[in-house]
Amino acid sequence: MANPTAEPACIALIVAAGRGTRLGGPVPKQYRDLGGAPVLRRTLEIFASHPRIDAIRVVTGADDETHYSAATAGLALLPPVVGGATRQASVLNGLESLAAMPPAKVLIHDAARPFATADLIDDLIAALDDAPGAIAAVPVVDTLWRAADGNLDALVPREHLWRAQTPQAFRYADILAAHRKAAGQALTDDAAVLRAAGGIVAVVEASEANFKITTEVDLMRASVQRQSAQADLRVGTGFDVHRLGPGDGVWLCGVKLPFDQALVGHSDADVAIHALVDAILGALGDGDIGSHFPPSDMRWRGAASSQFLRHAKSLVAARGGAIRHVDVTIVCERPKIGPHRAALRTSLAQLLELPEGRVSVKATTTEGLGFTGRGEGIAAQAAATIALPFESSFT
Ligand code: MG
Repeated sequence: MANPTAEPACIALIVAAGRGTRLGGPVPKQYRDLGGAPVLRRTLEIFASHPRIDAIRVVTGADDETHYSAATAGLALLPPVVGGATRQASVLNGLESLAAMPPAKVLIHDAARPFATADLIDDLIAALDDAPGAIAAVPVVDTLWRAADGNLDALVPREHLWRAQTPQAFRYADILAAHRKAAGQALTDDAAVLRAAGGIVAVVEASEANFKITTEVDLMRASVQRQSAQADLRVGTGFDVHRLGPGDGVWLCGVKLPFDQALVGHSDADVAIHALVDAILGALGDGDIGSHFPPSDMRWRGAASSQFLRHAKSLVAARGGAIRHVDVTIVCERPKIGPHRAALRTSLAQLLELPEGRVSVKATTTEGLGFTGRGEGIAAQAAATIALPFESSFT
């Protein structure tokens, strides 16, 4: 996002107030899981990483506070506003909430469309130079028939027919005025609201991939579409050693285990995380821990290695990818890792925001042989599997 403290030029208003009754279940569809994160978060990530979106506000359901907080943790968003009884009322609430800091432009988007592209957002914003409104839409390609009493009645010419999607982009003052005027009516989208007030709405051709999750089948399609978009699977490995010295505990996987010694190093010497960071960087083909966090840099003196791991994770995310699985092996005689193994795994899973089933922590000894056998140090090796968008295989 651009600087959120400057006067906003363009705000994204994400409508997440629906109950998603067609999908059933206790969780509204925008909070259902899509590849390890809620659908809403997937949608928000698109807008949060777009350079022309200055701020994001979500319109939520009245009872969705817990779901919302969990789905948006760590994202920089404006405080949410609660929606109304209908989608139209929800959008009006959202627009009114921006009146105190009116943006020049607003993009209104359904939370349940997690595949809007950055290019589409650019095209919609650009279209507002020539019209007060612009919508994403796809041309109708199927033959259209009107039916009556179970039989075909009349062919409907499909030329000039478009199926409306979101985002729908508007000059803020125009859409706010139109929505105020249309309050209480039942118009099916915001383009209809602007047109009812006499505003011109441009069509920006979008992709079928920008579909809305409505049914259980849609959710499966979204999952497959997301997976196939990240089909470049890579495995990286890492290895690290730190010497044992005076101290009262060793840091492993972000947890300090009580011990009569400590690992010696420039940072907190968390040998397991160091090996894992190198594995992730290896999968990215992006140098090693020393090149990203040079020991000569005073910023990293005594640093928690969890910072390094978060940074490595963010490098994967910046490439549009995801960490799928990690496997860490700690090699030492003492301290005994077995009793702490579950805690170490939980810690890594939390740092990586992965389910524990995608995180493995193992331990072994070297049968008293070598430097680990003599208790001079601890070694760790790691493997990380990451998935990147296919384009990355050409870069
Ligand atoms: Mg190290």
